[in-house]
Amino acid sequence: MAYRVTFIPGDGTGPEISEAVRRVLEATGVEFEWDWQDAGADVYESEGTPLPDRVIDSIKERGLAIKGPITTPVGSGFRSVNVALRKELDLFACLRPCKAYEGVRTRFPDTDIVVVRENHEDLYAGVEYEIGDDDTERLREFIKETTGTELREDVGISIKPISVTGTKRIVRQAFEYAKAYGRSKVTAVHKANIMKFTDGLFLKTAKEVAEDEYPDIEFEDRIVDNLCNQLVSRPEEYDVLVLPNLYGDIVSDLGAGLIGGLGMAPGANVGDDYAVFEAVHGSAPKYKGQNKVNPMALMLSGVMLLRHIEEREAGDRLEEAIAEVIREGDSVTYDMKPSRDDPSAVGTSDVADAVIAKMERVAA
Ligand code: NAD
Repeated sequence: MAYRVTFIPGDGTGPEISEAVRRVLEATGVEFEWDWQDAGADVYESEGTPLPDRVIDSIKERGLAIKGPITTPVGSGFRSVNVALRKELDLFACLRPCKAYEGVRTRFPDTDIVVVRENHEDLYAGVEYEIGDDDTERLREFIKETTGTELREDVGISIKPISVTGTKRIVRQAFEYAKAYGRSKVTAVHKANIMKFTDGLFLKTAKEVAEDEYPDIEFEDRIVDNLCNQLVSRPEEYDVLVLPNLYGDIVSDLGAGLIGGLGMAPGANVGDDYAVFEAVHGSAPKYKGQNKVNPMALMLSGVMLLRHIEEREAGDRLEEAIAEVIREGDSVTYDMKPSRDDPSAVGTSDVADAVIAKMERVAA
């Protein structure tokens, strides 16, 4: 029976990448019934919203989606479709595997970590007070009254909420990932030495979940600045990392840098009921329609999708085919060549051809 999956092609370079990914996923032999759903700036023009209900309904019905990147126009008045999707579907966890494949240009060939980032809380919760607002003034007074701290008059304030509930579920997600994929260690990342009531709570809760529920998997913690230092000196010592929203955002881009750049960094946003697979990178609009950008990040997100639906053998086969194309270094896009203007770089669709040819050779 075919898997019913929502496919959001995205905009900018999204549609060309999505087409390449559709082809390689179908070439695995796993059957899919795609429900194509547009979202983003063009949809905003025609339907008055960049994320119509039909997109959300489609994902709710199927439980699964794969998604190309979507542009968030600066100053357009609409919020990021990507953020809205995470909220609407309660996709509280962002999973970002960062693995350096042989043949990728990187100084850190031994990197194989998974960043598990909390998606809803922390400084990204959207609770903010603008400079000069009456509410900001009231908050300033409240803070002075309750803590004795006098904030400057010309201050803007962002609130950092971190809850036990939010932390428990993200930490469980990290351990469940470790269990499902044979990972041996989870590291909780924080700044608990400075922010005791938020990061301190995150660390305490993470320790409790580790001890009470996952005694068989190694657990440790690191202060975020120390972790960054260690990731760029000995990344091989890390396995699964679990982080609050802001550190997770920064460390996952650091992770993408460790493994050869954005063109190689896959991801998934998951919750209890739904999962949306998407690359870390954006829509790279300046390359739109040029058949130029690297589809491997979304292909590797497709590998994650296959494993998520328990089509592990197909996932392994697709990953191995991608790895072999990278190892050979011929049929790769400009960003994976020694110099960015290398004339031997191939296009987005050629990478799909090469990956499919590799899978066919293995099958023959
Ligand atoms: P971007 O990731 O689109 O591109 C930055 C640069 O990274 C590109 O110019 C290119 O040099 C390189 N790059 C990105 N993807 C690549 C690929 N697949 N292959 C080769 N090189 C690649 O980031 P940006 O320019 O900051 O964002 C463009 C738009 O995308 C913005 O509107 C942003 O809001 C949006 N965005 C969307 C998502 C998403 O849909 N999940 C994520 C990030 C950004």
